[in-house]
Amino acid sequence: MKQSKMLIPTLREIPADAEIKSHQLLLRAGFIRQNASGVYSFLPLAKRVLQKVEQIVREEMDATGAVELLMPALQQAELWQESGRWYTYGPELMRLHDRHNREFALGPTHEEVITSLIKDEVKSYKRLPLSLYQIQTKFRDEKRPRFGLLRGREFIMKDAYSFHSSRESLDEVYNEIFQAYSNIFSRCGLNFRAVIADSGSIGGKGTHEFMVLSDIGEDTIAYSDTSSYAANIEMAPVVASYERGNETEKELEKALTENQKTISEVSAFLNVSSEKCIKSLLFKVDEKPVLVLVRGDHEVNDIKLKNIFDAGIVELAEPEETLNILGCSIGSLGPVNAKGVEIIADHAVEAIVNGVCGANEEDYHYVNVNPGRDFSVTRYEDIRFIQEGDPSPDGEGNILFAKGIEVGHVFKLGTKYSEAMNAVYLDENGKTQPFIMGCYGIGISRTMASIAEQFNDEKGLIWPVAVAPFKIHIVAVNMKDEAQSSLAENLYDELKQTYDVLLDDRQERPGVKFADSDLIGLPVRITVGKKASDGIVEVKVRQTGEMFEVHTSELIGKVT
Ligand code: ATP
Ligand code: MG
Ligand code: MG
Ligand code: MG
Repeated sequence: MKQSKMLIPTLREIPADAEIKSHQLLLRAGFIRQNASGVYSFLPLAKRVLQKVEQIVREEMDATGAVELLMPALQQAELWQESGRWYTYGPELMRLHDRHNREFALGPTHEEVITSLIKDEVKSYKRLPLSLYQIQTKFRDEKRPRFGLLRGREFIMKDAYSFHSSRESLDEVYNEIFQAYSNIFSRCGLNFRAVIADSGSIGGKGTHEFMVLSDIGEDTIAYSDTSSYAANIEMAPVVASYERGNETEKELEKALTENQKTISEVSAFLNVSSEKCIKSLLFKVDEKPVLVLVRGDHEVNDIKLKNIFDAGIVELAEPEETLNILGCSIGSLGPVNAKGVEIIADHAVEAIVNGVCGANEEDYHYVNVNPGRDFSVTRYEDIRFIQEGDPSPDGEGNILFAKGIEVGHVFKLGTKYSEAMNAVYLDENGKTQPFIMGCYGIGISRTMASIAEQFNDEKGLIWPVAVAPFKIHIVAVNMKDEAQSSLAENLYDELKQTYDVLLDDRQERPGVKFADSDLIGLPVRITVGKKASDGIVEVKVRQTGEMFEVHTSELIGKVT
């Protein structure tokens, strides 16, 4: 493409309201322009990067067997009312009316739309598993849109949804897509980590985030210096439990040997991957060991705890009495002590001064609960957040902290949406069952900004080859010089057969051209200057700064 025909409005000055490198550079290099707060135009260079990222995403998603579709951004309120999220999603959901005064939302995500689609179109277990994805503009009225594309109010997301007739099938696809995500972010050249995550407002249990390591990240990751353990700090278990590690391990061992259960059997019950994680959650109730999940879905915890009790792994004096309390979800109050039940707290306890807790009756909760006032909180003061230097929960190495940008998120949703929306299929025995679901998101525009954030220097952007808007930048120093302009044009015609090439054919001063070229940051620059009449050009590698002169006849081999 010829630069004279492009729209690449570069800026010399750093825009005043851009705080971080990627935002500054994407503006300065003419990739994006802000329209309204958190709303951007993607100019031609940005559009090309997005397409490259999308292509990588498509290849890797297709390889998992997922198929692409496109659903509406404009979504009927009825669907959101059915799932209940119309009432719980809050002001981030962009709501609007049509001319008949019917209510709609601009989709921030598509669980409702796809669940309703699959409910209508898939009736039998024979069609399962099924994975579908789309790449589309999403809308979220973020409280604090900032950092340019990193937190927009209108942004591009790849969202995928899988439908299953068994948990095992969900686990399988989840693992495949997890692997696909690792491939995607590796191919984008990003330095990232997959971390144990919090399920947020989408709900469900079994979830990982893909975090690009960056000092400007809004999330904190706790990771082990020796093992693969990594968790969003929101999810990292409290330290108090590890400090009593020996004691709890012994308790668990005792409980397990007495009941002839192995740790992995317990893991299977809990559907928790880390055995150590379970150990850390072992506490005593009336001198009896009790396994407690401190995070997660209310129902899920109750069911899982019930499995454990039923299996006789642990016993409670009054199971009915305490089950609900111990199964409290994070939205409720983790630690309670109604009847001599020892408090266990998760990290959110600091935030819950007046919380909600289970009232030992389905769908009933106490509100304005104040731990310490309404319940005796025996170990409350023991609880603190995990900190750097603490032993890793998996027993291997010590904890380090890093900041991360969430670029991807995978969830096991279970039947949360299918049950709420009555989306069922017929199983092998002709019985109706709710679909078991997973969902998987990648912020496409956020990924682009993360790449810009990770790859730059004082002169500008440095695009990794796989996602660069063009691979080669031919810069003709003086377009008025016949030898230079014709060599540049010839090179351009030849190289563009094989590569994405941008030709700077503008009649600008050399200084401007070189500065723009560094700012835009294409991987290879070919400068056509004074030696053009001898057929000699200069090649510069943006990333390393390596430079050499070469005769155009030898160029092709040198560029690759
Ligand atoms: P965050 O924690 O940053 O608010 P999220 O957890 O709300 O993100 P998800 O619902 O998991 O986001 O959406 C899937 C992906 O969409 C995220 O992993 C992220 O890459 C991207 N994303 C979410 N919100 C935004 C936004 N406001 N601007 C750009 N990308 C976003
Ligand atoms: Mg969010
Ligand atoms: Mg998040
Ligand atoms: Mg998320």
